[in-house]
Amino acid sequence: MHAPVVGGGGGYGHAVVVGSSLAGLTAARALANFMDQVTVVERDWVPRGPGRRRGVPQARHTHSLMTAAQQGLEQLFPGIRQDLTDAGAVHVRMPEDMLLLGPSGWLPRADSGLSMLSAGRDLIDAVIRDRLLADPKVTFLREHEAVALQPGRHDTVTGVWVRRRDRKTPGGWATRHLISADFVVDATGRGSRAPQWLAELGYEPPHETVADAGTAFATAVFAMPVGHVADWKGLLLLPSPGDPVQGMLNPLEGGRWSVSVCVGDGRSLPTDHAGLLRAADALRHPLLHDVLRGATPLGPVYGCRATENRWRHYEKLRRWPDQFLVLGDAFAAFDPVHGQGMTAAVHSALVLDHMLASHGTAVGLGYRLRRALAHRLAPAWRTSTRASRAAKDDQDPRAGLRTRLSRRYQARIAAAATRDPYAAKALLQLLQTAAPPATALRPRVLRAALRGPHGPAPTAPPTTTHGQDTHRRRPAAPPAPALGMSDSPPWHSLTRPV
Ligand SMILES: Cc1cc2nc3c(=O)[nH]c(=O)nc-3n(C[C@H](O)[C@H](O)[C@H](O)COP(=O)(O)OP(=O)(O)OC[C@H]3O[C@@H](n4cnc5c(N)ncnc54)[C@H](O)[C@@H]3O)c2cc1C
Repeated sequence: MHAPVVGGGGGYGHAVVVGSSLAGLTAARALANFMDQVTVVERDWVPRGPGRRRGVPQARHTHSLMTAAQQGLEQLFPGIRQDLTDAGAVHVRMPEDMLLLGPSGWLPRADSGLSMLSAGRDLIDAVIRDRLLADPKVTFLREHEAVALQPGRHDTVTGVWVRRRDRKTPGGWATRHLISADFVVDATGRGSRAPQWLAELGYEPPHETVADAGTAFATAVFAMPVGHVADWKGLLLLPSPGDPVQGMLNPLEGGRWSVSVCVGDGRSLPTDHAGLLRAADALRHPLLHDVLRGATPLGPVYGCRATENRWRHYEKLRRWPDQFLVLGDAFAAFDPVHGQGMTAAVHSALVLDHMLASHGTAVGLGYRLRRALAHRLAPAWRTSTRASRAAKDDQDPRAGLRTRLSRRYQARIAAAATRDPYAAKALLQLLQTAAPPATALRPRVLRAALRGPHGPAPTAPPTTTHGQDTHRRRPAAPPAPALGMSDSPPWHSLTRPV
């Protein structure tokens, strides 16, 4: 990939980016490498520093910046990982710093080379935004809503119509005005109105593919219990076949935790702290519930159901206004259960950076960009939609032979992952959709899956700070060697077998 020349270049005129969340911020960075001036149009008031914004309601939920997103951000904003950790983001090696209950049992805490940066979403955006605010080429136009595109001659776009928020005017908005631009990016997220904007100019709206697993999140922030000591930083209790509820605890800046319970298949969500605790207790292992009992809630429990995988096939449209691009969730939105949205946004900005470096804003760029974006996002899309379908098929006894075989093979990888760090890494990569599905067929993974685990899956979480000696929560059950379950103490006699 082309290495961006930060702050260099110039000469291609004025770009307008609509939306200042992850996709908009990273696109603005890529454009600033080539354009004379970049204007970021944002409907919300944009705070200085971390602050809640109406336009990014998902910011209340647990956000992990996965390995690939960190690497991409570092290319766009050299030193950004250090900035994020200086601001309080927590670096969590996976699964070394985590207690991770896979579909078949606890994963060994070996070094896999994978990690996440864990922080409040407002903080992540604020640190990136600060970098852009320091760039003299970039201007933020706060409290301005984009409402339409300005067409030019021969299938081009020459600007964006915006209206300023004006609380004194009936309706809350001033009269719209035009911002001229040589390049326009729509990064307005799942609610993007680009299909309507295009239709108003006589273009065909894109065909959409939707894969919805009915995933829903309930999230609350907690202060750690006083005197909390642990040899881990985060918890992830993944669903298993027949038990589609996931629990996670991510560390946040300021010694806080973001805790989410994620349900599938349109099930009901907890709406208060008592409900969240009950949901944590019903997970495959009581650890999250036990840890939370001593923690102090710092805000309400928020829910989110807008989680479907949705791809708007802009890449397939034949007629298109050149110098216009849609990216981020507005182009392809992923089920957040895999934590991929920010990675996709960063990768899209890198595609933009690369294409501008190769072709400038020459005629035909729009076509090339749409194709290149689709190509870049396709592997993550395939993995994410396959996982969404599998979540449904798990419940479907009439699933076909191919589905049943794939399900069985994945179950073998998950079983091997409880003993084999290489299989554990492959499992994590597949879960993060950070690797193509072919990862599952790498010789070492294949061998581990076919051989099966070296012994029974550990039934105790791999920690010395939360377990039998620290917390006897349930009566100890007698060891059950006949079931091949217990090679470790049975403190946590599970509510359901892992
Ligand atoms: C519950 C949940 C959990 C998630 N967890 C993770 C995670 O752990 N890891 C991960 O990588 N991703 C996660 N995601 C996905 C991630 O939040 C998004 O993919 C990411 O924010 C990129 O989105 P975006 O920039 O395309 O759009 P958005 O974040 O939706 O931002 C759109 C922006 O456009 C602005 N806007 C909208 N319309 C207009 C207009 N007409 N004019 C001007 N401005 C406008 C909005 O105010 C907003 O600022 C999660 C998502 C959800 C729902």
